[in-house]
Amino acid sequence: MIHRYDITITGGGMTGLALACALGQQGKKVAVLEAGPTPAPFDPASEPDLRVVALNRASQSLLENLGAWQRLRRISSFDRMHVRDAGSSASIGFSAAELGEPDLGHIVENRLIQRALYESAAALDSVDWFDSISIRDLGVDDHDAVITLEDGRVFTSRLIVGADGRFSRVREAAGITVHSRDYQQQAIIATVETEQPSDRTAWQRFLPDGVLAFLPLTDGRSSIVWSSKRAEEILALDDEAFLHALGEAFDFHLGAVLDSSARAAFPLIGRHAQHYVKPRLALIGDAAHTVHPLAGQGVNLGFMDVAELADVLGKSARDPGSLMLLRRYERARRGENTVMQKLMEGFQLLFLNNIPPLAGLRGLGLTITDQLGPLKATMMRYAMGTMGDLPPLAQNRLR
Ligand SMILES: Cc1cc2nc3c(=O)[nH]c(=O)nc-3n(C[C@H](O)[C@H](O)[C@H](O)COP(=O)(O)OP(=O)(O)OC[C@H]3O[C@@H](n4cnc5c(N)ncnc54)[C@H](O)[C@@H]3O)c2cc1C
Repeated sequence: MIHRYDITITGGGMTGLALACALGQQGKKVAVLEAGPTPAPFDPASEPDLRVVALNRASQSLLENLGAWQRLRRISSFDRMHVRDAGSSASIGFSAAELGEPDLGHIVENRLIQRALYESAAALDSVDWFDSISIRDLGVDDHDAVITLEDGRVFTSRLIVGADGRFSRVREAAGITVHSRDYQQQAIIATVETEQPSDRTAWQRFLPDGVLAFLPLTDGRSSIVWSSKRAEEILALDDEAFLHALGEAFDFHLGAVLDSSARAAFPLIGRHAQHYVKPRLALIGDAAHTVHPLAGQGVNLGFMDVAELADVLGKSARDPGSLMLLRRYERARRGENTVMQKLMEGFQLLFLNNIPPLAGLRGLGLTITDQLGPLKATMMRYAMGTMGDLPPLAQNRLR
């Protein structure tokens, strides 16, 4: 059976679904092909997903404009952020009040973002969702891009968008090479309870072997992301030893760690596709780039890819698979994503290096920056995604 669409998106994760909503709002006929199941409806009794993201202001605006923010649940806003350096004992603090903002960002569970976007997409007649699919073959000619599934269904469109994550099948099938950098760390994630509640504050502590983040959840617990070179050792600890090691690594800022969910871990590898586009093909989100999670920017960058690609395709009456058109998207995004990736790698080098003069200078730098209002405000506005010209979909239209 042959299905005909304007655009086929492979990957119905956060970025794929966001793009489907944006293009669907423009009236384009879109198919979303997802390897996994349809995201389950929200269950208030469910435990939080171990995978959460810190959404910045630009991502919030994008989700609002797509009607997904309004459907989100368990949104935890934070209005303070503390970054500490274990090597030099220096710290820097940010507060929403200093910036005249209501908050600095929001922590939301990945699966609830995916579900909210799925509901927004399902409300659009022009978007069709196909779950549990498996791609057999992908090909492109002068007129069409064609995806054949293992069950024989064929999807023909003018453009294929690869939103299928860090191991992107679309990227591989298109022969797009990737620059990779193994950070030699794994990110351990878990939901934990501490003696004192997290209280709308996001914490980050740079350690000699990595970085530890405590992100506040709505019920006072925290979601932790512990990126470490010693991850295997930490994962092998029994529960009691893990709670103690975690509390110690966090310098007991919220008192003892009382309880933890099961732990999961992700190897951390930075990747950047050499090209984001080819004739009739574009990559977005983790399919195009993965960055170290230390500044919580991964999906925020992915959502900006969505906003930019939707803007480029929405403004032109041209064939959406035209390479000339798609290059506008690549030009707008690749440089910006490279800057963020290099910035994260710079932070890594700076903070994981404990040669005494460097640790001392780092401490001094943090202390001085903490006292320099304008520099601090600029750093924070960059992280919040509110600097520079944003594509219309990432601009605040509703607040
Ligand atoms: C520990 C950790 C913490 C993080 N914290 C943050 C944070 O605080 N803030 C932030 O912005 N980012 C964060 N990130 C990054 C963020 O999770 C990713 O950038 C984001 O999930 C990427 O979304 P995506 O939709 O591009 O890809 P994915 O989330 O990987 O989604 C890809 C989708 O494609 C589907 N798929 C895969 N293969 C196929 C196929 N062959 N055919 C069809 N479908 C397919 C998958 O099932 C999935 O649904 C973190 C990452 C990690 C590992």
